[in-house]
Amino acid sequence: MKITAIRTHLLEHKLDTYFESASSGFSTRTHVLVEVETDVGITGWGECLGPARLNAAIVEGMAGHLIGQNPLETEKRWLETYHAFRDQGQRGLTITALSGIDIALWDIKGKAWGVPVSTLMGGRFRESIEAYATGGFRKDGLDRVTDLPAELARYKAEGFGAAKIKIGFDVDEDLEVIKRCRDAIGPDMKLMIDANHGFTVAEAIALGREAAQYGIGWFEEPVLPELLDGYVDVRRGQPIPVAGGETWHGSWGMKGPVEKRCIDILQPDICGTGGFTEAKRISDMCVLHGVRLVPHVWGTGVQLAASLQFLSALPPNPPRPEPLQPMLEFDQTEMPFRQTVLTSPLTHESGLVAVPDGPGLGIEINRDTLENYRP
Ligand SMILES: [Mg+2]
Repeated sequence: MKITAIRTHLLEHKLDTYFESASSGFSTRTHVLVEVETDVGITGWGECLGPARLNAAIVEGMAGHLIGQNPLETEKRWLETYHAFRDQGQRGLTITALSGIDIALWDIKGKAWGVPVSTLMGGRFRESIEAYATGGFRKDGLDRVTDLPAELARYKAEGFGAAKIKIGFDVDEDLEVIKRCRDAIGPDMKLMIDANHGFTVAEAIALGREAAQYGIGWFEEPVLPELLDGYVDVRRGQPIPVAGGETWHGSWGMKGPVEKRCIDILQPDICGTGGFTEAKRISDMCVLHGVRLVPHVWGTGVQLAASLQFLSALPPNPPRPEPLQPMLEFDQTEMPFRQTVLTSPLTHESGLVAVPDGPGLGIEINRDTLENYRP
Protein backbone atom coordinates (compact mmCIF):
# COMPACT_ATOMS: atom_id res chain seq x y z
CA MET A 1 0.00 0.00 0.00
CA LYS A 2 1.22 3.52 -0.80
CA ILE A 3 0.28 7.04 0.29
CA THR A 4 -0.88 8.95 -2.79
CA ALA A 5 -2.02 12.32 -1.37
CA ILE A 6 -2.14 14.31 1.88
CA ARG A 7 -4.72 17.08 2.16
CA THR A 8 -5.65 19.50 4.93
CA HIS A 9 -9.14 20.84 5.63
CA LEU A 10 -9.61 24.04 7.64
CA LEU A 11 -12.87 24.49 9.54
CA GLU A 12 -13.72 27.92 10.91
CA HIS A 13 -16.61 29.49 12.82
CA LYS A 14 -16.94 33.00 14.25
CA LEU A 15 -18.17 32.74 17.83
CA ASP A 16 -21.31 34.47 19.07
CA THR A 17 -19.55 35.31 22.35
CA TYR A 18 -15.82 35.83 22.89
CA PHE A 19 -14.41 33.73 25.74
CA GLU A 20 -11.03 33.37 27.36
CA SER A 21 -8.85 31.32 29.67
CA ALA A 22 -5.91 32.75 31.60
CA SER A 23 -3.65 32.10 28.62
CA SER A 24 -5.71 32.67 25.47
CA GLY A 25 -8.90 34.16 24.06
CA PHE A 26 -11.25 32.83 21.41
CA SER A 27 -13.30 34.89 18.96
CA THR A 28 -13.32 32.12 16.36
CA ARG A 29 -12.90 28.35 16.41
CA THR A 30 -10.49 27.22 13.73
CA HIS A 31 -9.40 23.59 13.47
CA VAL A 32 -7.60 21.55 10.84
CA LEU A 33 -8.20 17.97 9.73
CA VAL A 34 -5.66 15.88 7.82
CA GLU A 35 -6.81 13.51 5.07
CA VAL A 36 -4.39 10.86 3.80
CA GLU A 37 -5.26 8.96 0.61
CA THR A 38 -3.84 5.62 -0.49
CA ASP A 39 -3.60 3.69 -3.75
CA VAL A 40 -6.06 1.03 -2.49
CA GLY A 41 -8.97 3.40 -1.90
CA ILE A 42 -8.57 3.62 1.90
CA THR A 43 -8.57 7.15 3.32
CA GLY A 44 -7.38 8.05 6.81
CA TRP A 45 -8.27 11.08 8.92
CA GLY A 46 -6.38 12.96 11.61
CA GLU A 47 -6.43 16.32 13.37
CA CYS A 48 -3.77 18.73 14.66
CA LEU A 49 -3.97 20.70 17.91
CA GLY A 50 -3.13 24.39 17.84
CA PRO A 51 -2.81 27.09 15.16
CA ALA A 52 -4.74 25.53 12.28
CA ARG A 53 -3.25 27.41 9.33
CA LEU A 54 0.33 26.92 10.55
CA ASN A 55 -0.32 23.23 11.20
CA ALA A 56 -1.77 22.92 7.69
CA ALA A 57 1.32 24.51 6.16
CA ILE A 58 3.65 22.16 8.02
CA VAL A 59 1.56 19.10 7.16
CA GLU A 60 1.82 20.12 3.52
CA GLY A 61 5.58 20.56 3.98
CA MET A 62 5.83 17.06 5.44
CA ALA A 63 3.84 15.46 2.62
CA GLY A 64 6.89 15.12 0.38
CA HIS A 65 8.47 12.77 2.95
CA LEU A 66 5.39 10.54 2.97
CA ILE A 67 3.89 10.29 -0.52
CA GLY A 68 4.83 7.00 -2.15
CA GLN A 69 5.58 5.39 1.25
CA ASN A 70 3.69 2.58 3.00
CA PRO A 71 1.13 4.06 5.48
CA LEU A 72 0.97 0.80 7.48
CA GLU A 73 4.56 1.30 8.71
CA THR A 74 3.56 3.91 11.27
CA GLU A 75 6.72 3.76 13.39
CA LYS A 76 8.95 4.20 10.31
CA ARG A 77 6.85 7.03 8.91
CA TRP A 78 6.86 8.80 12.30
CA LEU A 79 10.60 8.59 12.83
CA GLU A 80 11.57 9.49 9.26
CA THR A 81 9.29 12.53 9.25
CA TYR A 82 10.30 13.67 12.73
CA HIS A 83 13.98 13.22 11.91
CA ALA A 84 13.62 15.33 8.76
CA PHE A 85 12.38 18.24 10.92
CA ARG A 86 14.25 17.45 14.15
CA ASP A 87 17.04 20.03 13.92
CA GLN A 88 14.62 22.97 14.02
CA GLY A 89 11.52 21.35 15.44
CA GLN A 90 11.75 19.07 18.45
CA ARG A 91 8.66 20.66 20.01
CA GLY A 92 5.64 22.71 19.04
CA LEU A 93 4.25 22.82 15.53
CA THR A 94 6.46 20.05 14.14
CA ILE A 95 4.93 17.66 16.64
CA THR A 96 1.36 18.96 16.38
CA ALA A 97 1.47 18.70 12.57
CA LEU A 98 3.00 15.23 12.71
CA SER A 99 0.25 14.22 15.15
CA GLY A 100 -2.46 14.79 12.55
CA ILE A 101 -0.58 12.71 9.98
CA ASP A 102 0.17 9.89 12.43
CA ILE A 103 -3.48 9.64 13.50
CA ALA A 104 -4.55 9.40 9.84
CA LEU A 105 -2.00 6.61 9.24
CA TRP A 106 -3.34 4.63 12.23
CA ASP A 107 -6.86 5.17 10.88
CA ILE A 108 -5.70 3.66 7.57
CA LYS A 109 -4.00 0.77 9.38
CA GLY A 110 -7.16 -0.04 11.32
CA LYS A 111 -9.30 0.13 8.17
CA ALA A 112 -6.83 -2.07 6.27
CA TRP A 113 -6.95 -4.75 8.96
CA GLY A 114 -10.61 -4.28 9.87
CA VAL A 115 -10.09 -3.44 13.54
CA PRO A 116 -10.35 -0.29 15.67
CA VAL A 117 -7.14 1.55 16.56
CA SER A 118 -7.68 0.54 20.21
CA THR A 119 -7.23 -3.09 19.18
CA LEU A 120 -4.06 -2.23 17.24
CA MET A 121 -2.74 -0.48 20.35
CA GLY A 122 -3.01 -3.68 22.35
CA GLY A 123 -6.65 -4.10 23.22
CA ARG A 124 -9.66 -2.41 24.75
CA PHE A 125 -9.71 -2.29 28.54
CA ARG A 126 -13.03 -0.43 28.51
CA GLU A 127 -15.88 0.09 26.04
CA SER A 128 -17.00 3.47 27.35
CA ILE A 129 -15.25 6.39 28.98
CA GLU A 130 -16.47 8.74 31.67
CA ALA A 131 -16.51 12.24 30.20
CA TYR A 132 -15.95 15.45 32.05
CA ALA A 133 -17.46 18.68 30.77
CA THR A 134 -14.87 21.29 29.89
CA GLY A 135 -16.10 24.86 29.99
CA GLY A 136 -16.14 27.52 32.64
CA PHE A 137 -14.31 30.12 30.57
CA ARG A 138 -14.61 33.85 31.23
CA LYS A 139 -17.18 35.06 28.70
CA ASP A 140 -17.40 38.53 27.29
CA GLY A 141 -19.99 40.65 29.08
CA LEU A 142 -20.75 38.11 31.83
CA ASP A 143 -19.73 38.04 35.50
CA ARG A 144 -17.95 34.71 35.92
CA VAL A 145 -18.76 34.61 39.65
CA THR A 146 -22.43 34.04 38.79
CA ASP A 147 -22.11 32.67 35.23
CA LEU A 148 -19.85 29.69 35.97
CA PRO A 149 -21.99 28.13 38.74
CA ALA A 150 -25.03 28.35 36.42
CA GLU A 151 -23.03 26.74 33.58
CA LEU A 152 -21.91 23.88 35.84
CA ALA A 153 -25.45 23.30 37.07
CA ARG A 154 -26.44 22.82 33.41
CA TYR A 155 -23.74 20.17 32.95
CA LYS A 156 -25.02 18.37 36.02
CA ALA A 157 -28.58 18.49 34.66
CA GLU A 158 -27.30 17.04 31.35
CA GLY A 159 -25.96 14.02 33.24
CA PHE A 160 -22.27 14.83 33.55
CA GLY A 161 -20.65 13.55 36.72
CA ALA A 162 -17.56 15.76 36.36
CA ALA A 163 -16.64 19.21 35.06
CA LYS A 164 -13.66 21.53 34.83
CA ILE A 165 -13.55 25.30 35.13
CA LYS A 166 -10.99 27.95 34.22
CA ILE A 167 -9.13 29.88 36.90
CA GLY A 168 -5.81 31.72 36.90
CA PHE A 169 -7.30 35.22 36.66
CA ASP A 170 -7.21 36.41 40.27
CA VAL A 171 -6.75 34.24 43.38
CA ASP A 172 -9.56 35.78 45.45
CA GLU A 173 -12.10 35.85 42.62
CA ASP A 174 -11.10 32.34 41.53
CA LEU A 175 -11.71 31.04 45.07
CA GLU A 176 -15.13 32.67 45.12
CA VAL A 177 -15.95 31.07 41.75
CA ILE A 178 -14.78 27.63 42.95
CA LYS A 179 -16.82 27.88 46.15
CA ARG A 180 -19.97 28.89 44.26
CA CYS A 181 -19.47 26.17 41.65
CA ARG A 182 -19.18 23.54 44.38
CA ASP A 183 -22.35 24.88 46.01
CA ALA A 184 -24.15 24.77 42.63
CA ILE A 185 -23.30 21.13 41.83
CA GLY A 186 -23.41 19.62 45.32
CA PRO A 187 -20.79 17.44 47.00
CA ASP A 188 -20.77 14.39 44.69
CA MET A 189 -19.96 15.76 41.23
CA LYS A 190 -16.24 15.86 40.42
CA LEU A 191 -14.82 19.35 39.98
CA MET A 192 -11.43 20.19 38.46
CA ILE A 193 -9.68 23.55 38.08
CA ASP A 194 -7.40 24.71 35.24
CA ALA A 195 -5.23 27.81 35.64
CA ASN A 196 -3.83 27.68 32.07
CA HIS A 197 -0.48 28.68 33.62
CA GLY A 198 -1.83 32.02 34.81
CA PHE A 199 -0.38 31.94 38.34
CA THR A 200 2.96 32.55 39.96
CA VAL A 201 4.24 29.71 42.13
CA ALA A 202 3.22 31.57 45.31
CA GLU A 203 -0.27 32.30 43.98
CA ALA A 204 -0.78 28.69 42.92
CA ILE A 205 0.23 27.38 46.34
CA ALA A 206 -2.03 29.91 48.10
CA LEU A 207 -4.99 29.03 45.89
CA GLY A 208 -4.45 25.27 46.17
CA ARG A 209 -4.35 25.39 49.98
CA GLU A 210 -7.67 27.23 50.13
CA ALA A 211 -9.39 25.45 47.24
CA ALA A 212 -8.69 21.95 48.61
CA GLN A 213 -11.66 22.26 51.01
CA TYR A 214 -14.01 22.26 47.98
CA GLY A 215 -13.00 18.75 46.88
CA ILE A 216 -10.96 19.43 43.74
CA GLY A 217 -10.03 16.48 41.51
CA TRP A 218 -6.94 18.12 40.06
CA PHE A 219 -5.23 21.49 39.68
CA GLU A 220 -4.22 21.84 36.02
CA GLU A 221 -1.35 23.93 34.63
CA PRO A 222 -0.84 26.01 37.78
CA VAL A 223 2.29 27.75 36.45
CA LEU A 224 4.19 28.30 33.19
CA PRO A 225 5.03 25.00 31.46
CA GLU A 226 8.73 25.91 31.35
CA LEU A 227 8.85 26.24 35.17
CA LEU A 228 9.50 22.62 36.08
CA ASP A 229 10.93 23.56 39.49
CA GLY A 230 7.83 25.69 40.04
CA TYR A 231 5.62 22.67 39.32
CA VAL A 232 7.53 20.68 41.95
CA ASP A 233 7.07 23.52 44.46
CA VAL A 234 3.31 23.69 43.77
CA ARG A 235 2.98 19.93 44.06
CA ARG A 236 4.75 19.95 47.43
CA GLY A 237 3.23 23.18 48.70
CA GLN A 238 -0.50 22.40 48.46
CA PRO A 239 -2.63 19.26 48.70
CA ILE A 240 -4.52 19.08 45.37
CA PRO A 241 -3.10 16.63 42.76
CA VAL A 242 -1.29 18.59 40.04
CA ALA A 243 -2.00 17.97 36.34
CA GLY A 244 -0.32 19.25 33.18
CA GLY A 245 1.16 18.32 29.86
CA GLU A 246 -0.97 19.76 27.04
CA THR A 247 1.96 21.99 26.03
CA TRP A 248 4.78 19.49 26.57
CA HIS A 249 5.22 17.87 23.18
CA GLY A 250 6.25 14.32 22.42
CA SER A 251 7.92 11.80 24.69
CA TRP A 252 11.08 13.91 24.86
CA GLY A 253 8.98 16.85 26.04
CA MET A 254 7.25 14.72 28.70
CA LYS A 255 10.43 13.04 29.95
CA GLY A 256 11.69 15.96 32.07
CA PRO A 257 8.39 16.76 33.83
CA VAL A 258 7.68 13.08 34.52
CA GLU A 259 11.17 12.28 35.82
CA LYS A 260 11.23 15.44 37.92
CA ARG A 261 7.85 14.44 39.42
CA CYS A 262 6.21 17.73 38.43
CA ILE A 263 2.74 16.21 38.10
CA ASP A 264 0.41 13.58 39.52
CA ILE A 265 -1.57 13.42 36.26
CA LEU A 266 -0.03 13.80 32.80
CA GLN A 267 -2.24 15.26 30.06
CA PRO A 268 -0.78 14.62 26.60
CA ASP A 269 -3.04 15.56 23.69
CA ILE A 270 -3.18 12.85 21.01
CA CYS A 271 -3.41 15.56 18.34
CA GLY A 272 -0.56 17.58 19.85
CA THR A 273 1.92 15.16 21.31
CA GLY A 274 2.76 13.11 18.22
CA GLY A 275 -0.31 10.99 17.52
CA PHE A 276 -0.88 7.40 18.60
CA THR A 277 2.74 6.39 17.95
CA GLU A 278 4.09 8.85 20.47
CA ALA A 279 1.14 8.69 22.87
CA LYS A 280 1.80 4.98 23.35
CA ARG A 281 5.41 5.72 24.35
CA ILE A 282 4.15 8.39 26.77
CA SER A 283 1.61 6.01 28.28
CA ASP A 284 4.40 3.46 28.86
CA MET A 285 6.49 6.21 30.50
CA CYS A 286 3.61 7.01 32.85
CA VAL A 287 3.34 3.36 33.93
CA LEU A 288 7.10 3.23 34.62
CA HIS A 289 6.92 6.34 36.80
CA GLY A 290 3.61 5.72 38.56
CA VAL A 291 1.93 8.73 36.98
CA ARG A 292 -1.76 8.84 36.04
CA LEU A 293 -2.62 9.74 32.43
CA VAL A 294 -5.75 11.69 31.47
CA PRO A 295 -5.41 13.13 27.96
CA HIS A 296 -6.10 16.71 26.99
CA VAL A 297 -8.74 17.10 24.26
CA TRP A 298 -9.64 20.31 22.40
CA GLY A 299 -10.88 19.62 18.91
CA THR A 300 -13.53 18.22 16.58
CA GLY A 301 -15.19 14.82 16.57
CA VAL A 302 -12.08 13.44 14.85
CA GLN A 303 -10.01 14.30 17.89
CA LEU A 304 -12.72 12.94 20.20
CA ALA A 305 -12.67 9.64 18.31
CA ALA A 306 -8.87 9.41 18.38
CA SER A 307 -8.86 10.16 22.11
CA LEU A 308 -11.57 7.55 22.76
CA GLN A 309 -9.52 4.89 20.93
CA PHE A 310 -6.45 5.78 22.98
CA LEU A 311 -8.40 5.93 26.26
CA SER A 312 -9.93 2.53 25.61
CA ALA A 313 -6.47 0.95 25.25
CA LEU A 314 -4.85 2.64 28.27
CA PRO A 315 -3.80 -0.11 30.68
CA PRO A 316 -5.18 0.15 34.24
CA ASN A 317 -2.44 1.64 36.37
CA PRO A 318 -2.26 -0.02 38.83
CA PRO A 319 -4.44 -3.02 37.91
CA ARG A 320 -6.95 -3.89 40.67
CA PRO A 321 -10.56 -5.06 40.88
CA GLU A 322 -11.89 -1.50 40.58
CA PRO A 323 -9.07 0.42 38.89
CA LEU A 324 -8.90 4.19 38.59
CA GLN A 325 -10.36 4.99 35.19
CA PRO A 326 -9.10 7.62 32.77
CA MET A 327 -11.51 10.32 31.67
CA LEU A 328 -12.47 11.96 28.39
CA GLU A 329 -12.17 15.74 28.29
CA PHE A 330 -15.40 16.76 26.53
CA ASP A 331 -15.35 20.39 25.41
CA GLN A 332 -18.83 21.93 25.75
CA THR A 333 -18.05 25.38 24.36
CA GLU A 334 -19.40 26.75 21.08
CA MET A 335 -18.15 24.80 18.03
CA PRO A 336 -20.99 23.98 15.60
CA PHE A 337 -18.92 21.54 13.52
CA ARG A 338 -17.62 19.47 16.46
CA GLN A 339 -20.16 16.71 15.87
CA THR A 340 -21.48 17.52 12.38
CA VAL A 341 -18.06 16.77 10.90
CA LEU A 342 -18.94 13.14 11.67
CA THR A 343 -21.77 11.20 10.04
CA SER A 344 -22.65 9.85 13.54
CA PRO A 345 -22.13 12.14 16.54
CA LEU A 346 -20.15 11.02 19.60
CA THR A 347 -22.57 11.87 22.37
CA HIS A 348 -22.64 11.09 26.06
CA GLU A 349 -25.25 9.14 27.98
CA SER A 350 -25.28 10.08 31.69
CA GLY A 351 -21.69 11.29 31.25
CA LEU A 352 -20.46 8.11 29.51
CA VAL A 353 -19.23 8.09 25.89
CA ALA A 354 -19.07 4.78 23.99
CA VAL A 355 -15.79 4.01 22.21
CA PRO A 356 -16.47 3.63 18.46
CA ASP A 357 -16.00 -0.01 17.43
CA GLY A 358 -15.70 0.39 13.65
CA PRO A 359 -12.31 -0.01 11.95
CA GLY A 360 -9.63 2.66 12.45
CA LEU A 361 -10.96 5.65 14.39
CA GLY A 362 -14.46 4.18 13.93
CA ILE A 363 -15.88 7.33 12.32
CA GLU A 364 -16.90 8.63 8.91
CA ILE A 365 -16.45 12.21 7.79
CA ASN A 366 -19.37 14.34 6.60
CA ARG A 367 -17.86 16.22 3.66
CA ASP A 368 -20.76 18.70 3.56
CA THR A 369 -19.52 20.07 6.89
CA LEU A 370 -16.00 20.49 5.46
CA GLU A 371 -17.52 22.63 2.71
CA ASN A 372 -19.87 24.57 4.99
CA TYR A 373 -17.14 25.71 7.40
CA ARG A 374 -14.29 26.19 4.94
CA PRO A 375 -12.88 29.69 5.59
MG1 LIG B 1 -5.93 22.83 30.17
